[in-house]
Amino acid sequence: MKVGIVGCSINGAYLAWKLSKKYEVFVFEKNKIIGEKPCSGLISERIWNFIPKNDKIIENFIDEAIIHFKKKIKLKFHPRLLVINRKLLDQYVTELAKENGVNVFLNNEVKRVYFVKGKKPQILADKIYEFDYLIGCDGFGSIVRKSVGIKNPKYKLGIYTYKNKKDKSNFVDVYPSKNGFAWVIPRGSKVEYGLLENMNVAKDKFDKFCRKKKIKPKKIYSHVISEGLVKAEAGRIALCGDAIGLTKPTSSGGVIWGLTACNILLKNFPNFKKYDNEIKKVFEPKFLFLRAGNRIVRFFGFRFPRILPKEVYFDSDFLY
Ligand SMILES: Cc1cc2nc3c(=O)[nH]c(=O)nc-3n(C[C@H](O)[C@H](O)[C@H](O)COP(=O)(O)OP(=O)(O)OC[C@H]3O[C@@H](n4cnc5c(N)ncnc54)[C@H](O)[C@@H]3O)c2cc1C
Repeated sequence: MKVGIVGCSINGAYLAWKLSKKYEVFVFEKNKIIGEKPCSGLISERIWNFIPKNDKIIENFIDEAIIHFKKKIKLKFHPRLLVINRKLLDQYVTELAKENGVNVFLNNEVKRVYFVKGKKPQILADKIYEFDYLIGCDGFGSIVRKSVGIKNPKYKLGIYTYKNKKDKSNFVDVYPSKNGFAWVIPRGSKVEYGLLENMNVAKDKFDKFCRKKKIKPKKIYSHVISEGLVKAEAGRIALCGDAIGLTKPTSSGGVIWGLTACNILLKNFPNFKKYDNEIKKVFEPKFLFLRAGNRIVRFFGFRFPRILPKEVYFDSDFLY
């Protein structure tokens, strides 16, 4: 049986690696190099529940976040977070897939997906390919999702830059705003300054944040972050990760949630209806709870910070 995957970032590479134990797998990636997706790579240690441990891709360890309302609140992470080099992570998982015989086509953008209910899906890349099943791991702008007529998830913009400065601190600084937040992440050999906001104001707010932190960005990285679960299947086609808006409403982190969804997909493969149902059951309550929690914490944080505790333990994956 032939399985096609569009997108060779973390979720596409992981699914390819796992599916290749049973099926013939083909992955299409539009970029020439794996791991070009801008991402802070702040990921909990649960990453090792999915892939074999690899110390070479870790840049730093984070135990806490200091949230800067008028009063500072300390979030103590349990499990702790790793500052992962995202490019190396994607390349590492892609290598696992390749070692298992996955065909990875780089610099090969999927331009069209031919979807007819009941028929095998076809894609147009460098030529036309037909698969028994097709999986869209092609992120926010997913052509697979668009081709099957599933609506876009909501989105914000993430922007960041680096300053060359050794910093091995074990905490990140977070500066909440009405609709987003800014961050400072110590990455060992450099420090990352970033911001997540609504598209129309993100760049202005980022410039302001840089001025406040007295940094002059040499290079800026940015990418849309999707958020809000949409439908994950259409017949022989499934979607996963950012393509269906699987990022946490608190931090917009998507790696652990995406990989969790991948495992649900693998368990139900190729019954994509069952996969979609299970995804909803697992993630909808998390979205509801985290969105409500987010609002409540911001309300008290901005207006009545004294009510909030000084220190809280927090599972950044939200009860995985
Ligand atoms: C600024 C920023 C910071 C972030 N920080 C964190 C963080 O600290 N921790 C965390 O857990 N998450 C973070 N995220 C979210 C995380 O990056 C995503 O949730 C994760 O990358 C989703 O993986 P994915 O495989 O679903 O899709 P993506 O990583 O978006 O990858 C999609 C892939 O598909 C390819 N593609 C797209 N269209 C086509 C096509 N037509 N043909 C072929 N290939 C195609 C792309 O080139 C890309 O390689 C961050 C995101 C951003 C933008």
